[in-house]
Amino acid sequence: MAYGDHTGPLRAGYCKASVHERGMGVRFYQCERKAVKDGYCKQHHPDAVAARRKAADERYEAKWAQSPVMKLVAVRERHAKLVIALESIREEHADMAGLVAYVTSVLNDDKVSDDHA
Ligand SMILES: [Zn+2]
Repeated sequence: MAYGDHTGPLRAGYCKASVHERGMGVRFYQCERKAVKDGYCKQHHPDAVAARRKAADERYEAKWAQSPVMKLVAVRERHAKLVIALESIREEHADMAGLVAYVTSVLNDDKVSDDHA
């Protein structure tokens, strides 16, 4: 029996998920909802659990993408592109038009990102 499994026999017809005792309890008991699919209630069915976890992960990732740290990473990536562009000025004086187009596109990326902020 794994940690988190409730002790005692399963009640037939009820969800077979083990849930944590309410309040300060440390024991687990069988879910009190009726089983509706594969022996689980709607909330504890593995598909529903996975869907909730996925949604939570997506919320977390979206929040993380908007975090100051990730914005700084994005700024640094664009900074690195600009450094490359500036180095190419030194190495390829001839292609000024292409260089200006490249730098402009990098700066426009900045503008798009700022609009989203
Ligand atoms: Zn349940």
